[in-house]
Amino acid sequence: MDRKNETFHHHIRWQGGALNWETWSTRAAAEYSARQIVRPGETYVIEEFGEACMTCGAIRVKTARAGK
Ligand SMILES: [Zn+2]
Repeated sequence: MDRKNETFHHHIRWQGGALNWETWSTRAAAEYSARQIVRPGETYVIEEFGEACMTCGAIRVKTARAGK
């Protein structure tokens, strides 16, 4: 599968379904950060998103309204 033309990024999804709003460009970087901030006994999965990511879209709208 050719994925060169689309930009992918990663989020951490915590146990229980909450999605971390931070983005990582590689799965390895997301894994590394997750290991630093995960709570004892908590689990997570690294999920890959394309350009239509709803989480990042929501952040962009908020940032624009703040007049950054
Ligand atoms: Zn995203």
